[in-house]
Amino acid sequence: MPNASPSPPQPPELAAGGSPEEMGHGLSCSRSVSELEFFMAVRAGDLAMVEDSLRMDPDILYQTTIYGRLSALHITAANGRLEVLSMILSRSIHPDLLNRKKQTPLMLAAMHGKIACVQKLLEAGANILMFDSLIGRTCLHYAAYYGHSDCLQAILSAAHYSSVADSWGFARFVNVRDGNGMTPLHLAARQGQPDCVHILLDNGALVNAQTGGYRWAGSTPLHLAASGGCLGCVRELLAWGADRLQKDSSGRIPYVIALKRKYVACAALLNPSSAEPLVWPKPLKFINELNPDTKVLLETALMEANLLREKKILKGTMFSLSSPLHSEGKLDNDADSEGSDNDLCSICFEQACTIEVQDCGHQMCAHCTLALCCHKKPGTSTLFSSAPVCPFCRSDIARLAVAKTRTPEEFDRDNSSKLRRPKRSRHFCEGSSSFKGLSPPVSSFGKLMGHKLAANSDSLDKH
Ligand SMILES: [Zn+2]
Ligand SMILES: [Zn+2]
Repeated sequence: MPNASPSPPQPPELAAGGSPEEMGHGLSCSRSVSELEFFMAVRAGDLAMVEDSLRMDPDILYQTTIYGRLSALHITAANGRLEVLSMILSRSIHPDLLNRKKQTPLMLAAMHGKIACVQKLLEAGANILMFDSLIGRTCLHYAAYYGHSDCLQAILSAAHYSSVADSWGFARFVNVRDGNGMTPLHLAARQGQPDCVHILLDNGALVNAQTGGYRWAGSTPLHLAASGGCLGCVRELLAWGADRLQKDSSGRIPYVIALKRKYVACAALLNPSSAEPLVWPKPLKFINELNPDTKVLLETALMEANLLREKKILKGTMFSLSSPLHSEGKLDNDADSEGSDNDLCSICFEQACTIEVQDCGHQMCAHCTLALCCHKKPGTSTLFSSAPVCPFCRSDIARLAVAKTRTPEEFDRDNSSKLRRPKRSRHFCEGSSSFKGLSPPVSSFGKLMGHKLAANSDSLDKH
């Protein structure tokens, strides 16, 4: 079925802390009743009963289930039993016990999305750079594959401070490969996890990395997103500069893969002849140093601009634009120029000024800021020779910040100060051609987008 979303991956039952069959095995294969009761209590998170068992036999903590060789720590991690997990860790049990597949408790917690247990294990010094014996995956692969973005983020944060940062380096860890040469980004793209794709890209995952191995050989994350039919992943990857023309080992570009699988919307965006999306200007120093609030404003503006572009592209396809909205909800939360106390942007005269250029203090809207920074796309041979400058005064941009809302008194004072923004800057007209690169024209943004975009936008695939 065209554009059907892949069903979300489900963690294997066994890992969830011993299936009933496994417990049954234990019972019928000479495992004692007390041990079975202990594992049942661990799985249920029954702290009192677990403590009772430990009083009778402290060594029971070192026992594992027969089938999967799961320790009590594995079982609590997979089932999110934080209390029992904390109690076990407090008894000096090593956090990196291995089960039969050489999976650590941290891997199982990441697989099942048990964020509190992930955090507790990380605090206890769990090693984030362990590889299982199945496909050689790390906890980061598990979190990405199963789409647990909170766990993914927690592991990445830990990677900044753990010994991994010293030995491997953070950038290398983000791009760690499993036995098939798949990075966490490959897995997230393949499994249709756009939130994880976003976090990984934001943390330095290589957008055009190619897989090794012989399954999906030479595939980039964009190839895998195309084969999974996840529009949200395709969108994220393109906005991060993924190359639509990169070929896999069979000589196919992502477009061909989406077409073959009848993911019409994905194929339309991947079509090399479709308009290029705006790409997040990550090489710019002041973009890498954005504070979180400013970053949200600019990321939202980028997404809005690209969604509008998408809409135009998709109109040309045979795909019906009637699907309900799924994931654009986060666009609702800002860029609301009406009712805002901020001044109108004097470049587009449509949106409110939400961004302030520092140190000069000139203000403009997020869309115009983005247009200023994004006019070079991947694949063009002319790269920045220098960073963009303030369109009003042409001074260097040291920082971008959220524009403060001004009181009427401040407004009057500013209007008479040297920071007064010109209604039409001559410098802007002469100095930058970048706004021409923004399609559709910036001036039509407000009318077209407004803050109604999210509500009216068409989400075509699952994300
Ligand atoms: Zn503007
Ligand atoms: Zn300025």
